[in-house]
Amino acid sequence: MQTQGEVCQPGFFKASPYSRYCSKCPPYSYTYDKGSALCQCLDNYFRRDNDPPSMACTRPPTAPQNVISNINNTSVILDWSPPADAGGRKDVMYLVVCKRCSVDLIECDECGSGVRYIPQETGLKNTSVMVVDLLAHTNYTFEIEAVNGVSELSPIPRQFVSVNVTTNQAAPSPISVVKKKKIAKNTISLTWEEPNRPNGIILEYEIKYFEKDQEISYTIIKSKETEIVVDGLKPTTVYIFQIRARTAAGYGGYSRKFEFETSPVSLPAGDQSQMPIIGVSVTVGMILVAVVSGLLLSGRRCGYSKAKQDPEEEKMHFHNGHIKLPGIRTYIDPHTYEDPSQAVHEFAKEIDASCITIERVIGAGEFGEVCSGRLKLPGKREFPVAIKTLKVGYTDKQRRDFLSEASIMGQFDHPNIIHLEGVVTKSKPVMIVTEYMENGSLDTFLKKNDGKFTVIQLVGMLRGIASGMRYLSDMGYVHRDLAARNILVNSNLVSKVSDFGLSRVLEDDPEAAYTTKGGKIPIRWTAPEAIAYRKFTSASDVWSYGIVMWEVMSYGERPYWEMTNQDVIKAVDEGYRLPTPMDCPVTLYQLMLDCWQKDRNSRPKFEEIVSILDKMIRNPCSLKMLVNASTRGSNLLVEHNTMGLGAYRSVGEWLESLKMGQYTENFNESGYTSLDVVTKVTLEDLKRIGVCLAGHQKKIMNSIQELRVQCVNSMMPV
Ligand code: AMP
Repeated sequence: MQTQGEVCQPGFFKASPYSRYCSKCPPYSYTYDKGSALCQCLDNYFRRDNDPPSMACTRPPTAPQNVISNINNTSVILDWSPPADAGGRKDVMYLVVCKRCSVDLIECDECGSGVRYIPQETGLKNTSVMVVDLLAHTNYTFEIEAVNGVSELSPIPRQFVSVNVTTNQAAPSPISVVKKKKIAKNTISLTWEEPNRPNGIILEYEIKYFEKDQEISYTIIKSKETEIVVDGLKPTTVYIFQIRARTAAGYGGYSRKFEFETSPVSLPAGDQSQMPIIGVSVTVGMILVAVVSGLLLSGRRCGYSKAKQDPEEEKMHFHNGHIKLPGIRTYIDPHTYEDPSQAVHEFAKEIDASCITIERVIGAGEFGEVCSGRLKLPGKREFPVAIKTLKVGYTDKQRRDFLSEASIMGQFDHPNIIHLEGVVTKSKPVMIVTEYMENGSLDTFLKKNDGKFTVIQLVGMLRGIASGMRYLSDMGYVHRDLAARNILVNSNLVSKVSDFGLSRVLEDDPEAAYTTKGGKIPIRWTAPEAIAYRKFTSASDVWSYGIVMWEVMSYGERPYWEMTNQDVIKAVDEGYRLPTPMDCPVTLYQLMLDCWQKDRNSRPKFEEIVSILDKMIRNPCSLKMLVNASTRGSNLLVEHNTMGLGAYRSVGEWLESLKMGQYTENFNESGYTSLDVVTKVTLEDLKRIGVCLAGHQKKIMNSIQELRVQCVNSMMPV
């Protein structure tokens, strides 16, 4: 430092002539002159007008990282990590640029003012934003840029991270015009106009009708045309009709209620739509006959009487799509087809094998190899796909079971459900072609990237899975084998539910074990009522979802570690639950516990789970409070004083009790200095620590296993 009076030397400056000392130029600045009042910034470094001269020069931040998108129909939640280099400033904020692109993504235009951003488009302080009011079926590119106080001073082109998304389909708009065509004593013929905004190809219409003021009992019919003849009606009775359209995106809203009255007597054939309907009194006897015949007729066409249904039973009543229940449940069990090959061709496109190039084997499925490759359909660009093959020498049943996965997958269209491209059945090998998921299955992906994601990114993945599951449960499909190993992850970190099947789902899962009642079940992931008496419902899928949450938050840890299946069943039945994963936000752990409520009706629905996770993403502060790992450890052990294990005050004491005190130093030197950390030790770790004798390994692992059970037991009795 130089003293007052002296002229500052090169490399030093004095902002005020009255100040006593010359100061060294701050980082990234210089001066070659004597007597400088200010140091110049190096190339590509800047100083804002209001930055003090003593402050280092700074530069714009690098681009944000790891952007992930979660699409929900026509809105998308974008979430990213901060830039690797903030440019030396603390005032980093983010802005989002939305571009609408052509199918091949070559031409893009700015989205304009029709799109809304929550909380806002620019000046974002948090690393997430929700973009709403996008168009259905449209490709968008979102560019996310980090800016700081000197970004506008820099001539360097803006650096951003971008993500491409295709919005999901929006459901069709309601039908607004319904007209009667013919009216007879037992029949009403109707015609209607397509909805103003079909938002896709209309697959069918659903017509709901009931006697006026008798909505409790109604009938639903399907039609592929915009007209229908409804028979089996009572004469001189007013009926209410509501119609809605379905596309691959699901059902649109019902039309308003249209009232039509059957005629009292048979009118001559011909179009009577314009004829006034005159009420004629009829005898009570006639009415009764009409009521009875009406009921019989509606029974023959599988009329659905809501009042008579057990709500649990509703889900079972899908029958080849001829009749449907209210709601958007549209999943059709391929096994209801007499000829299963008819089902696969109804729901899956046949692909010519010459369009597929197989590149390499990426996995093993129950029926044969899973490969990656490319699909080039005529008139379309080539793109990467995954190809599941059916090995040679298959039986008819194996072929049927293999293709049933495609028949199921082909009925789904959702950004968080693995997308079926088509099947090859006309040549051999028989193949199922799906979109390619670059990062493979979620459990392996998380294990490989232990600790690398922000909590928001993990929640983003969970949100995607919940959204996919919400769609499946809305469709009336119960997955039965929801687990991280059955979730696939693409290069944008979007997670998608996969592995669909019927009985075979559980047959091909290495985690599935035979239960005393017969049949295989992946015990650690399955709700108690599904294990005990095979009550598989969307509520049991919610239980499994809770286990997936736990797997995700613990980066692919095995639920209940090495506990045996029998011990898991017993512990869960007694009311004990998995403890919170390390550094897990309290709110997320609470959600897991809610999914593991014994009473399945008390568990949240997927709809609620999605909305809870959305709230967390919008308000990241709700994720700040963590269940502290070390507190957790000590709690566990304190609670179990009475059971002996909690009495160990140190790793040394525990090892001494096993007569393995000679390893105390090895444990301490390897960082295993507390019992809660010891519960995480695997056999591999033990070898690394230096426990080489198989007998010692077994003894220590058995005790660790017990410690873990104690952890589980003491953690969450509910
Ligand atoms: P699965 O028979 O569906 O369990 O598939 C076996 C393995 O193949 C999975 O664990 C994945 O590693 C891989 N795999 C299956 N489908 C895909 C896909 N669409 N994209 C990438 N990898 C896949």
